[in-house]
Formats: sequence, C-alpha cells, structure tokens
Amino acid sequence: MEPLVVMTEVNKHYGDLHVLKDISLTVNKGDVVVVIGPSGSGKSTLCRAINRLETIDSGSIAIEGRDLPEEGAALAKLRADVGMVFQSFNLFAHKTVLQNVTLGQTNVRKRSKKAAEERAMELLDRVGVANQVSKMPSQLSGGQQQRVAIARALAMDPKIMLFDEPTSALDPEMINEVLDVMVGLAKEGMTMVVVTHEMGFARKAADRVLFMADGRIVEDADPETFFTNPKSARAKDFLSKIL
Ligand code: ADP
Ligand code: MG
Repeated sequence: MEPLVVMTEVNKHYGDLHVLKDISLTVNKGDVVVVIGPSGSGKSTLCRAINRLETIDSGSIAIEGRDLPEEGAALAKLRADVGMVFQSFNLFAHKTVLQNVTLGQTNVRKRSKKAAEERAMELLDRVGVANQVSKMPSQLSGGQQQRVAIARALAMDPKIMLFDEPTSALDPEMINEVLDVMVGLAKEGMTMVVVTHEMGFARKAADRVLFMADGRIVEDADPETFFTNPKSARAKDFLSKIL
C-alpha cells in the first residue's frame, strides 16, 4: 500500500481551544475514508488542514512524502492536487457553470481554453449536468450545484478528494444524486476523505471509518466492524443517536 497523505502528531488550536490533538493518520492511495463524529469534534479542521486552508501548530502533514507547501505557486498546485467539496457548494457565483469548471484548469494547470472546455464537458456530462453549462450557479438546484462543484475539483485531476459534509445542505430528494456520483468515484479508485453522516454511503463505499471526538481519532476500523461492534462508549452513544 502506498501512502498518499501522512499526518504525524498534528496539533491545532484556535486560541485556547485545542481542536486537533496529536492526530496521526495515513491515507493510502485508493482508500475511501469516512470521517464521522459529533459536531465540533474537529472533522472540518482535519480536512482543511490537509488542503492547508488551516495551518497547524505542530506535527507534520505530507502528501506523497512531501510536506505541504507554505505559499505561492506550490500552494496553488497543492490545492489543485487536493480537491475539496464543501457543504455550501462554494461555486463562483458570477461565473457560468462551464467557467466554474474551466478556470482552475487554465489558471493553475495551464491548459488551453479548448482543452479545459473539453475536459469540463466530459466531467459535467459524467455528473449529469451537461445541459446546464451556460447557467449561473444560482439557477441550479443545490444537488446540481454540488455536482458542478465535484466536477470542478475533478477537472484539476486531483490526487485525493476531500468532501466536508457534501450533502448536509441539500434537500432530501437531492442527496442521492450527489452520493451516487461519490460512490462512482470511490469504485473507480479515487482516494477520498469524506466527512458525512450518511451511513449508507459509509457502508457502501468506505474502506475505513474514523470516529472523531474532542479533537482525537477515537476509532479507525472497517465499516462492518465499526457499525456492528464499536469499541468506545462515545462511538456507541453517537451511533445510537444517528442510526
Ligand atoms: P466539526 O467539523 O467536527 O464540527 P470543526 O473542525 O468545524 O468541527 O471545529 C472544531 C472546533 O473548533 C469547534 O469547537 C469549532 O467551534 C472550533 N472552530 C472551528 N473553526 C474555528 C475558527 N476559525 N475560529 C475559532 N474556532 C473555530
Ligand atoms: Mg464540520
């Protein structure tokens, strides 16, 4: 197994609040890691640290053996290599769907406009929104916007995709259209870290489930083991509330 992301004794504080406590975690190539845990346990901070949207106070994070870059072009490349999909879609509001998916390709990956548009169309077709390319994000449903956000991240040919509660802001009838795209990615071997409370997704697609509480990874197990036999009282209590 080839390690893609290696976090070693990572600590992060916000003022007096210790939000990541000695987190050590290896994500291997092709792993689908689902992260669950109570609100405030540090799940988003963990994802954001891997993308260097948050700095860390101590420890190290390396991707393919290299420490995360601090700034400049190397940081832009890191953000392209580490695709991120947020709860709140975060599309560029004043750009069309097509522009949303081509901009990073031309700016960061230095592709021609034509090549970027071809790749964008291929991905928009794949996530089922190819007929919406000229629209503005606000003209799309939440589920469609989130699928565009996934296409935008994929267009950069990322090494790993991070999803932070990608379906939490969606109306129930749109959740599956987004989860189906994610299951497809997982089956194709994309390396993924997915913060979600969609346990159906975890059972279907996860190789590992991490349970976080109070800034620590309390459990790290395969889904079958985790759901049928959680070890910690915290995990048992959490599962009894969401299942
Ligand atoms: P989760 O995603 O598991 O709900 P977060 O990683 O968002 O948890 O947050 C962990 C803790 O850090 C929470 O107590 C949250 O309020 C706090 N926190 C998150 N972001 C900030 C910030 N930018 N400034 C101060 N506190 C923050
Ligand atoms: Mg969060």
